[in-house]
Amino acid sequence: METEMEVALVQKCDVTDCAYNIDRACHTPAITIGDETQPRCDTFCNSASHGGDPQLTATVGACKVEKCTYNKSLECQASDISVGYKSDEPMCMTFKAR
Ligand code: SF4
Repeated sequence: METEMEVALVQKCDVTDCAYNIDRACHTPAITIGDETQPRCDTFCNSASHGGDPQLTATVGACKVEKCTYNKSLECQASDISVGYKSDEPMCMTFKAR
C-alpha cells in the first residue's frame, strides 16, 4: 500500500514585497521551492499589484531541493514551513541539509 504524501503549509512568509503576501502570509494555493542547490521561493513575484486569494493559505506544491532532510521524491514532507529573506533572496527558512 502506498503511503500518502504530506502537504506542507506555508505557516509564515516575511517576504512582504511579494504580490502574494498579505499580512506576512502567502495567499496563492501552492508555491514551488528551489532549484537543485538553493531553497529559493520560485513563486516569488515582485509586482505592484496583489495576487492570490485572501481566503487561502499557501501550501508547498513542489520542492526541488533534494538535499533537504524534509524532501521526499521532490515533495516537502515538513508539516509547515516559513519563508523569509536570506542574503536578499526569498528562501525557505525551514530548509535543513541532510
Ligand atoms: S523544508 Fe526543505 S523540502 Fe520543505 S520546502 Fe523547505 S527546502 Fe523544500
